[in-house]
Amino acid sequence: MNKIIIAIDGYSSCGKSTLAKQLAQALNYIYIDTGAMYRAITLFALRNDMIKDDQVDVEKLKKKLNTIEVSFAYNTQLNISETYLNGENVEKEIREIIVSNKVSKIAKIEEVRAKLVEIQRVLGKDKGLVMDGRDIGSVVFPDADLKLFMTAHYTVRAKRRYDELKAKNNKVSYEEVLANIESRDNDDTSRTSNPLIQVADAIVIDNSEITPKEQFDIALKLAKDKIAAVN
Ligand code: C5P
Repeated sequence: MNKIIIAIDGYSSCGKSTLAKQLAQALNYIYIDTGAMYRAITLFALRNDMIKDDQVDVEKLKKKLNTIEVSFAYNTQLNISETYLNGENVEKEIREIIVSNKVSKIAKIEEVRAKLVEIQRVLGKDKGLVMDGRDIGSVVFPDADLKLFMTAHYTVRAKRRYDELKAKNNKVSYEEVLANIESRDNDDTSRTSNPLIQVADAIVIDNSEITPKEQFDIALKLAKDKIAAVN
């Protein structure tokens, strides 16, 4: 049976990873969270004093880029894929607001993007993959069989993200989460290197007013139709 590549792009905190995970599980495909890769490099930069306020020491980071290894390993107890930075499990740390607040500054560095796009293409070489991010359908896999572009009103996204962080005991205010989402939307769509765009052949899913189950059913049908078409 031929497998396909499913590219999911969209704004911050609109449920891309939830949908991508569900699809990967239903189809028995690999799931790759590319945001986690940008977050891991951001954590590396923070730990190595390469970010002061909103200024990134780009030259210092570029010199160290080839020493940074970002990988994933499946946690069979939790049934989730976890992110590793140079062999250390950083899954929890990369989700913290301090990382969220800086990640778009790191994600706009061309050399960082080139490094991660190369790794992402290797991960997709055998297809059978669901990958989510900002430039998957436009840059990483422009020939992806199915491209989804997800969106939701920014206050809906902020509320969902806030509830999620609260449930994980993260000390953060709703206002902080809202401000982070607005600024990441702005950074992600306005950067010169691989900005977030809605490509012409992407199917838009606005989930402001549909349930996760409804969204999953729509996406799974689209995926199954594509799979049937390539077999
Ligand atoms: O998906 P997530 O919100 O975790 O991504 C974190 C950040 O990583 C985004 O705000 C964006 O700046 C960056 N990113 C990116 N390209 C991707 C995935 C994420 O620029 N493919």
